[in-house]
Amino acid sequence: MTEQAAVTGTTHSFQAEVSKVLSLVINSLYSNKEIFLRELVSNASDALDKLRFKGIADPSLLPEELRIRIATDEDARTLTISDNGVGMTAEELVENLGTVAQSGTQNFLSQLEQGADMNLIGQFGVGFYSGYLVADRVDVVSRAAGADTANRWSSDGQESFTVEPAQRDEAGSDVILYLKEEHAEIATGWKLRNLIQKYADYVDHPIQVEVERPAPEDEEDAEPTREWETVNQASALWQRSPSDITDEQYEEFYKHLTHDWEPSLARTHFKIEGTQLFRGLLFVPKRPPFDLNDRDRRRGVRLYVKRVFIMDDCEDLLPPWLRFIRGVIDSDDLPLNVSRELLQDSAATRVIRKQVTKKSLDLLESLAKDKKDDYLDLWEKYGTVIKEGFHFDPSYKDRLASLLRFSTSAGDEVIGLDEYVDRMPFSQPAIYYAMGASRAAVESSPHLEGLLDKGCEVLYLTDTIDQWVVDNLSEFRDKKLVSAMVGGLDLDEDDSDDKDAESTPETLGEFGDRIKSVLSDNISDVRKSSRLRKSPVCLVVPDGGVHSHIEQLLRAGNAEMPRTKRILEINAQHPLIMNLQRLHSTDADADELAKWFHLLYDQALLSEGSPIEDPALFASRMTDLMTSATAADAAG
Ligand code: ADP
Repeated sequence: MTEQAAVTGTTHSFQAEVSKVLSLVINSLYSNKEIFLRELVSNASDALDKLRFKGIADPSLLPEELRIRIATDEDARTLTISDNGVGMTAEELVENLGTVAQSGTQNFLSQLEQGADMNLIGQFGVGFYSGYLVADRVDVVSRAAGADTANRWSSDGQESFTVEPAQRDEAGSDVILYLKEEHAEIATGWKLRNLIQKYADYVDHPIQVEVERPAPEDEEDAEPTREWETVNQASALWQRSPSDITDEQYEEFYKHLTHDWEPSLARTHFKIEGTQLFRGLLFVPKRPPFDLNDRDRRRGVRLYVKRVFIMDDCEDLLPPWLRFIRGVIDSDDLPLNVSRELLQDSAATRVIRKQVTKKSLDLLESLAKDKKDDYLDLWEKYGTVIKEGFHFDPSYKDRLASLLRFSTSAGDEVIGLDEYVDRMPFSQPAIYYAMGASRAAVESSPHLEGLLDKGCEVLYLTDTIDQWVVDNLSEFRDKKLVSAMVGGLDLDEDDSDDKDAESTPETLGEFGDRIKSVLSDNISDVRKSSRLRKSPVCLVVPDGGVHSHIEQLLRAGNAEMPRTKRILEINAQHPLIMNLQRLHSTDADADELAKWFHLLYDQALLSEGSPIEDPALFASRMTDLMTSATAADAAG
């Protein structure tokens, strides 16, 4: 039995996920059912693009004109969308229209069950089934390019579909919708034109509908004639001049390209005439794709060469840290037979990527300047991705730096570095930041006490990736970026009135040495602190060291991560420290002291929101000390 015979003339069950999608689509109360046209015309247009691409290697496959035709039959209540594109074999009909890629569907199903918009359908690669929003049966008659037989796929969208031999004169597909009674008006000519203009004007292939031309009056016995008329502009939108394109046209094109249902957040449309001649139309989606952080997923722009579709998800033309941008690049200079491999390390790719990166940065900067709210919205969604740029493309770090936004100690407002520097007091020597796992954790961290007391604003860096930012950005507008958690911070430096010669780090003397020897497994040094006000101690990172929450994260992923011993900073003015110092001067070797020092260390960890290393030991030390304290009280 041939493979063809194996799949034709038989009834096939839909894959379970498809049945679920279908039943949700069929029973959907979703009112905007017209979106089916966008999805099916998109599929037809993709089929034409695929054939045009195949035609580069084998021109004999190409018809005279690639086009989409939409025919209606009011009596039979059908709507037929035909393309003379790449078509499908019987196996492809079974595979493409009976199964779906799992990951996307599950996600779609769960989002739909939570009440998501049916418009999502295309984003998950199940756009074909939107036909069942308006039809109770769909047939697809298809003939693959290069094959000489055709097949009919047919299903009422319940549990199964059939595939059987059929007749078709040329390669391509007819998708025939048997409209539900309540959607009969779609089969009327005027409604159809309207829908095409609304949902498919951006398509760069002609979309034709049949029109009746009355017989010329001067000719006797002449019959009215029917002919196909193109109803869309059928020119690639990105090739038109921006001044000729309306917002609605841009946005409809965007929806076609991305299957998004909301308008984009921002766009840029440009022409580059340098070493590489190309046009670009790029969009920032309002909502991140559901798999933005799935690094295995292909993404990027759609590549055309001289108006011919070459490939989707062309990653090489965009840096990874702009992976949320969608759009089209149409090159005049790349060869038509360009492949992913060829693109990967070609000089042309690098030139295009550089220009595309610059244009994208222009877009982000202008949004940040002119539409602050939109920019903050964008930053909230894509900020963590953009920050990867500091690591992957440090050459853009200055432009990236002004795009950064942070929450700060000054309130709920999210600000940029420019704003920070503009409003910092003249005497403030640096830009201060605190790094931690969350705003709540950094906000209450003892490290900030001194800075806040001095009236300095502190930026909160709470993304893991912020480490990459500060690794690559040491200063901004000639102001150093200084961590509130790092050893080198010396707040006494700029007001010598406060400065007391006794409080230099070295002068903790033997008391400091004792602490250091008791805690030698945990800390690298002991110092007097200039940053503490209310708290007795805190732990700071040695200059150039890794922040502890980053270290914890890294260790969670990689057990080999060495532990950085931090410096214990002591607030010498704190009553607790003064008491301990007194205790030490009466009996330098008292056992009690060691317990207090361990507790101090654990307390430094707790106050910055870090886990303590041995909670059981902490509890037993606490109990011992509480017992002796209460015994002393009871005796007194
Ligand atoms: P998507 O288009 O997102 O992959 P669909 O459910 O819309 O998801 O379509 C599934 C597959 O069926 C397509 O990827 C394509 O391979 C095939 N297909 C659909 N319509 C056509 C058509 N008109 N011509 C050729 N292939 C088609």
